[in-house]
Amino acid sequence: MSARILSGKEFALQIKEEVRRDAGALLEKTGVVPGLTVVLVGEDAASQVYVNNKHKACLELGIRSDIVRLPETASKEELLTVIAGLNQDRAVHGILVQLPLPKALRTVEQEVLLAIDPAKDVDGFHPLNAGRLAVGDEHLVPCTPAGCVKMLEMAGLEIKGKHAVVIGRSNIVGKPMAQLLLARDATVTICHSRTKDLAAMARQADILVAAVGKAHFVTADMVKEGAVVIDVGINRLPNGKLAGDVDFEQVQHVAGAITPVPGGVGLLTIAMLLANTVKAAQLAVR
Ligand code: NDP
Repeated sequence: MSARILSGKEFALQIKEEVRRDAGALLEKTGVVPGLTVVLVGEDAASQVYVNNKHKACLELGIRSDIVRLPETASKEELLTVIAGLNQDRAVHGILVQLPLPKALRTVEQEVLLAIDPAKDVDGFHPLNAGRLAVGDEHLVPCTPAGCVKMLEMAGLEIKGKHAVVIGRSNIVGKPMAQLLLARDATVTICHSRTKDLAAMARQADILVAAVGKAHFVTADMVKEGAVVIDVGINRLPNGKLAGDVDFEQVQHVAGAITPVPGGVGLLTIAMLLANTVKAAQLAVR
């Protein structure tokens, strides 16, 4: 058996078309152009690539995009001053502080995220937005899990009544993913590094989500025949190539559907960031 390959490219294109349409409609109705500002501190190479990709995607879809670059040596106060200014700026609807921050600022990451106006928190990481999601109000939802769920829906893969197993319990992927699946009537199990007999848990999944951060962690023997496997992981191998958390080569022969890495969930994340920016702009002008 060979799994259906869920191409992030194909679904991201569909989401981007919706974003372009919504941004155009907002402009026509209100004269407002949705605006996203990314704050980038330091010179991290991967972050530079992510930020430039986001910038390009915004411009393609009619979203104003700005990048505020701060030096590696920027202080917490400088960063908070920039965020306070963006909170006040009516032309800015979405603020994203690119993570990870340089080492000297890591301990204040939470404080920095808390400083962002929740109405402009297009990453969906602010505790207010996390709390909203927990009580079933999907306001500004973290982009990666939101993209995964949207992809399942667009692909016509049923969630209701299915047993979903999410490996990973981070605030940015695992927990919100579990909440989104639960809200769509899946029965959800969350696994983590202290889970006993994780392979047996994973084998029960109709929908298996891997958000672990370990290359090829999910092997074929951990997957039920016909399961939908969503690979969130992005890992850099010693040879420089990217790999997911799932052993794609083997698992594709067992799964019913599977996302590849690269070319899977990562593309949906950017698309959902743009969708969140337009949503924040729509809410701001209401
Ligand atoms: P975190 O490191 O924050 O969380 C990893 C989770 O995996 C933790 O809950 C941890 O458990 C669990 N875990 C680690 N080792 C094991 C193990 N041996 N067995 C079971 N569970 C384990 O990572 P993130 O959630 O931020 O990201 C996960 C992956 O997704 C990474 O590869 C990241 O790069 C990628 N990612 C991809 C995105 C995209 O756009 N495609 C966006 C965001 C992330 P515990 O809590 O017990 O420590």
